[in-house]
Amino acid sequence: MDEFLQAALDIAKAQASVRVMTEDQLADYVQNVAEKIRKIQSGEVEPEDEGSAWPTVTPEEAKKSIRENTISCLICGKKCRVLTKRHLDKHGIYAKEYREHFGLKKDTPLVAKSLLRERRAKMEEMRIWERRKMSDAE
Ligand SMILES: [Zn+2]
Repeated sequence: MDEFLQAALDIAKAQASVRVMTEDQLADYVQNVAEKIRKIQSGEVEPEDEGSAWPTVTPEEAKKSIRENTISCLICGKKCRVLTKRHLDKHGIYAKEYREHFGLKKDTPLVAKSLLRERRAKMEEMRIWERRKMSDAE
């Protein structure tokens, strides 16, 4: 028996234990699954599930993708200063999903560290300015 059929049988067994199937359905199912596994393994087709196209990385790797001057996209490896929504759109993933998928904290900004500091400094400047404006008004 070839390995694809064996793998398909294992999957079918698991399926049969959670739902009722006739013998014919089961046979069809095994055949379909075996064919799909064979195609995926030989690289004939991409897996249908888009989600599984996103690579998996360790939390350390995810953290390391955010560097001083660049952030690299964990899906395609592109380096940029900001991982824009437009870029993530190309992969069909939202920033929220991206963080979840790669195990980043949900408030992690998808920007290079230096840029983040610049932004924070600017925010701080604005805050001081706001405060000054307020006290001027008093
Ligand atoms: Zn990308």
